[in-house]
Amino acid sequence: MGSQDSHFALDSHTMMYGVFGDPVRHSKSPIMLNRAFQEAGINAVYTAFHITPDQLEHAVLGIKALGFGGVNVTIPHKLEVMRFLDDIDEGARTIGAVNTIVHRDGQLVGYNTDGIGYVRSLKEETSFQVQGSRILLIGAGGAARGVAYALAKECPSVVYIANRSKERAEQLSKDIGKFVECVSISTSELGDVPAVDLVVNTTSVGMHPNILELPIEEIWMDRWIGGGTTVSDLVYNPVQTRFLQAAAERGATVHSGFGMFIYQGAYAFEYWTGQQAPVAAMRHAVERSFQRKS
Ligand code: NDP
Repeated sequence: MGSQDSHFALDSHTMMYGVFGDPVRHSKSPIMLNRAFQEAGINAVYTAFHITPDQLEHAVLGIKALGFGGVNVTIPHKLEVMRFLDDIDEGARTIGAVNTIVHRDGQLVGYNTDGIGYVRSLKEETSFQVQGSRILLIGAGGAARGVAYALAKECPSVVYIANRSKERAEQLSKDIGKFVECVSISTSELGDVPAVDLVVNTTSVGMHPNILELPIEEIWMDRWIGGGTTVSDLVYNPVQTRFLQAAAERGATVHSGFGMFIYQGAYAFEYWTGQQAPVAAMRHAVERSFQRKS
């Protein structure tokens, strides 16, 4: 058993859950979800699976073959995995990315809990008003899609999407543009973006172990980030990324990916079990694991 928090006995009835990712060993999901199952008295175990892109289809078929209850899906599989599912929840289909698979009645159904987790955390942890605001999203991967969609539903005035590969930014801008004014650019064209109220790093840049990397050059941070700006980073390991530190030095309100991580996991737990997630215990388990620097 990987987690010190899991004390229940594993037996022939234990239900399996997990997370598929590449890389995946940085993930705190096993610590958080094993604690949730323990707290809720559910005989289940959750572990991390390092699944490379060429093995994704086999791994998804394995959920059915082995009778898993479900899995989370993380970098870089959130878009590709949709091809292998039986059904996709309407919200996740609109978002175009799946981070939670539920195995129910022999069917694999995809959901997306990233965006709702992000907006709930932003509202609870900052006083930022999305309605009427100008937003810059850096990145256009799977997590960006969920966050962009959830933000779009809160009626900002404009969303700029900047990505290393511009085609992905264009595609996301086209999809989200059905709900809100959207502008796509490549990160080399950041000079075209005027002042914004909220900057969100949705890329994996700055994530453990590459903790010194910044998703945008400091010259752009000097341009937009100041006392009136709120800056979020979806990266939650480390909790205080170099990007957030640099934003705080410029006077911005900073918002880490920690709360989003807890809520996206809580919503996944609720989809799998039909029970309310023990959010406080989940948060405590992840906080403790960061204190142990595991
Ligand atoms: P994806 O692989 O789907 O997307 C990765 C994104 O990062 C793409 O926009 C990609 O650009 C960009 N990117 C990757 N490497 C670089 C680089 N070296 N330079 C510039 N851009 C780069 O990953 P996800 O969307 O699933 O996850 C992204 C991050 O969000 C991860 O760190 C993940 O841990 C975090 N996350 C946090 C959550 C939370 O609860 N706090 C929930 C979900 C994700 P390109 O398209 O050009 O390749």
